[in-house]
Amino acid sequence: MRCRAFAGDVLPTLVTEGAQVDAVEFQNGVSLNLKLTNCDSAGTSRSFSFKFRPDPILKLRRMGSVMTRFVAALAISLSLAAPCIAADTLADALRIIQGKELVDLTHTFSPTTPVWGGFGQATMSAACDPKTHQPYTIEHDGFRTTFYSMVGQYGTHVDPPAHFRSDGMTMDEIPLKQMILPLVVFDMTPMLPKDPNHALTIDDIKAWEKEHGTIPAGAFAALRTDMSKEWTANPEHFKRSPFPAWSLAAIKFLFEERKVTAIGHESLDTDTTETMDSETWILHQNHYQIEAMTNLDKVPPAGAVIVVTWPKVDHGVGFPARAFAILP
Ligand SMILES: [Zn+2]
Repeated sequence: MRCRAFAGDVLPTLVTEGAQVDAVEFQNGVSLNLKLTNCDSAGTSRSFSFKFRPDPILKLRRMGSVMTRFVAALAISLSLAAPCIAADTLADALRIIQGKELVDLTHTFSPTTPVWGGFGQATMSAACDPKTHQPYTIEHDGFRTTFYSMVGQYGTHVDPPAHFRSDGMTMDEIPLKQMILPLVVFDMTPMLPKDPNHALTIDDIKAWEKEHGTIPAGAFAALRTDMSKEWTANPEHFKRSPFPAWSLAAIKFLFEERKVTAIGHESLDTDTTETMDSETWILHQNHYQIEAMTNLDKVPPAGAVIVVTWPKVDHGVGFPARAFAILP
């Protein structure tokens, strides 16, 4: 039986148009193993496994092997015509991601970059041999390395719940699955000329949803203010307070009603107020946040994916993070 439906769409590199179905096997009533021969010049024989809902296939299976082969081919045709089962393999996901544009959401940091006044600037120096106190050099030792001295909350950084809550999750405990999430971006820049310290409201979020759809559960919600452009251009103004930020009501709405997993923003803090109500609430709920993000103006309001990583410090309560977006 020839499978015309394979024609170059879903499995272009694996199955060519007119592939021959050589054998059909059922496994556990839920998957089909198909032996296929490609009609390409190599004529390679390959096995594929497809998962179907068992009932209709098994019912027809009893009608005989000829019918089974027909149903199997038909089922494949239908499956491949619709959004496809085979498309959820990891190899397909990687191929899709590699074809997408990536945007770095992380500032480069140095001893001179903005930091909260209570922490002070980082220092970085060539690491020394503790016995000789001489710095390692490529010329002398074949390698070099740097000794860093800085607060964890430096540059673009993660605030894990344990930053504010003594029994909260530490950096090493945040599940890996919380480090790759759908990304939604609220662009507050049109509101700032009139209200430079605007705090995002529930109404702002609902207006966003009218245009872009309901925020997906498990999302990472980011706040765009374009403050990040001052990171190097005007670091003193970047550190101002107050600054555009979230309202506590909006934060509660996002986590309680929309079930977001984490938030991020361009400023060094979460709140427009001195009392840190929103930051305290988020971290006490055992959610993490990313601060001092950048390039949110290069990411669409919806449809991107964020990947956030940080070093696995034992019981870590904050550290520079690396975040990037995969654009749709
Ligand atoms: Zn922070």
